[in-house]
Amino acid sequence: MSPLSELQELELEFVLPTYARQPVEFVRGAGTRLWDSDGNEYLDFLSGISVLNVGHCHPRVVAAITAQAARLTHVSNLYYTEPAMRLSAALSRSSLGGKVFLCNSGAEANEAAIKLARRARPGGEIVVVRDGFHGRTYGALSATPQESKQAPFAPLVPGFVVAAKDPGALAAAVSERTAAVLLEPIQGESGVLVLDDELLRSARAACDATGAALIFDEIQTGMGRTGTLWAYEQTGVVPDALTSAKALGGGLPIGALVTGPRLADTFQPGDHGSTFAGGPVACAAALVALELCGDPGLLVGVSQLGERLAGSLAELPAVARVRGRGLMVGVDLVDGAFAPEIARRALLEQRLVINATGPSTLRFEPPLIVTDGEIDDAVARLGNLPL
Ligand SMILES: *Cc1c(COP(=O)(O)O)cnc(C)c1O
Repeated sequence: MSPLSELQELELEFVLPTYARQPVEFVRGAGTRLWDSDGNEYLDFLSGISVLNVGHCHPRVVAAITAQAARLTHVSNLYYTEPAMRLSAALSRSSLGGKVFLCNSGAEANEAAIKLARRARPGGEIVVVRDGFHGRTYGALSATPQESKQAPFAPLVPGFVVAAKDPGALAAAVSERTAAVLLEPIQGESGVLVLDDELLRSARAACDATGAALIFDEIQTGMGRTGTLWAYEQTGVVPDALTSAKALGGGLPIGALVTGPRLADTFQPGDHGSTFAGGPVACAAALVALELCGDPGLLVGVSQLGERLAGSLAELPAVARVRGRGLMVGVDLVDGAFAPEIARRALLEQRLVINATGPSTLRFEPPLIVTDGEIDDAVARLGNLPL
């Protein structure tokens, strides 16, 4: 029996079937490369869904994890540890200048954001926009207006309002009853849909007029993915809070809610918490990842590399449209091309890791350290598929 088929049997018998996995077992990663259990090498243009922005097993991240793991892995938030305090300071200084709540995932970061907004405006509504994705836990799921994800799990958390992605409609949905407007500046899971700056400005103005909090979910767009450390920097709109996760830990699970000054003192002791939150190992990794992703040289490269990737993808015959910002790129395929099948064949036949966000959309999110040559290689591999 091959190592993979044994894992598949274990999965069938023992793993709750929440994922449709591809038939590949990865055993090692370095930079932009992955290796499977048969020794095949892959080019990774997904980064574990925008998690490995610094590349797989970045030597500085590995060193920080190893050193911290050998010294102290956990004490709870009843005590101080240096990595959590230093990471909070670095996150605040890199963005909104307020205070930070650390947690363990993206959904948890959004849960914290929703609770913070309701704490600031008790009983208030949370306005979200169509096609948004904010996670799978109940609060985050209630903020994710997608029928297929929500319907089987009703009833959801009350008080969520869905607005169309239109400046007027969004403004009309926000009132004195609104606690927060929560949105992704670029909607990743729905296929890399870039929200217009005009929509973001309308959200900002409506929040200013009503005292609601504007919260950007930067879980996928942050950590340099779009060519600035945070995507909001390119929109001209500054939110009152943002959430981060995915690439924040350089590969380890961690999330964060970062506020601006206005919401910095809303939570009081006892309002929120999590046993593992701010754990020293994840925070030590995140401190390095945040420093690496904020490097101005790297960020300039992300914009240039993103243009090269988008430009060459646009020339493939099967590609109808390319959108995105920096190295967050989505591609709509021409009629008749089935994106999940193309992603599967790219993986199995071309050893190129990408994914499909829907039946006609492919998503490309390589590590930010990708090279021009690797971009050309990835596009050539896709071009090899008879589409
Ligand atoms: C991935 C993602 C989440 C959920 O993060 P998890 O760590 O999977 O809980 C929330 N919002 C956005 C924009 C995401 O991309």
